[in-house]
Amino acid sequence: MPEVTSPLAENYAAVLDRLARAAQQAGRRADDILLLAVTKKFSAARIAEAYELGMRHFGENYVQEFEGKAPALAHLAGAQFHLIGHLQSNKTRKAAELFHTIQTVDSAKLAQRLDAVGRPLGVFVEVKLSNEDAKSGVAPEGLSAVADAVRASQHLRLRGLMTMPPWTENAEESRPYFARLRTLAEREGLRELSMGMSNDFAVAIQEGATMVRIGTALFGKRPQPSA
Ligand SMILES: *Cc1c(COP(=O)(O)O)cnc(C)c1O
Repeated sequence: MPEVTSPLAENYAAVLDRLARAAQQAGRRADDILLLAVTKKFSAARIAEAYELGMRHFGENYVQEFEGKAPALAHLAGAQFHLIGHLQSNKTRKAAELFHTIQTVDSAKLAQRLDAVGRPLGVFVEVKLSNEDAKSGVAPEGLSAVADAVRASQHLRLRGLMTMPPWTENAEESRPYFARLRTLAEREGLRELSMGMSNDFAVAIQEGATMVRIGTALFGKRPQPSA
């Protein structure tokens, strides 16, 4: 009888295998690295399919898009949803209601606004390590002030740092950004590092990633927005 499997199941197995091998090569435990399945542009049905395969941590980029999907996902016990896209200040309330963790806190003001919603939230401070104009995140010089604002909050728990290097085909080009984030986290006494995507997660693991954010390698190419 042929084995019945799905493309997502195969991709998931392949990603877990690559993750385990990267961890082993780095002398680390695969259990210490969390896989965040990045589901932007994919339907709630795809997220449910991923959940059925055992995935529990999901990353979404757009508050409004996820608001549309969330009702269909409310029954997935233990699923954790992370916001990994830029958060506009007029969406803080909605974001705090929909997500468990916000990975893109990049100002003290944003931290205060999230805290004011009054919900317990995990927080990563997003650090901008490249000079690209389009990237959000706080510059390294401003990191301490943002981290302090999160620490001073009532409801936010500071978990670690997140970054997104410029996109490149060559994963080695991401390495200095990952190393820099780790140095900054050590300086701040933070343990968690959200870094590495489909193209460069093995390098991120070598540099200490505790969470890798993977979309394409799991779900394939994202659907293009219709014109
Ligand atoms: C889309 C996205 C990812 C996933 O990227 P892939 O290359 O599809 O794995 C990871 N992190 C952030 C912040 C993203 O926006």
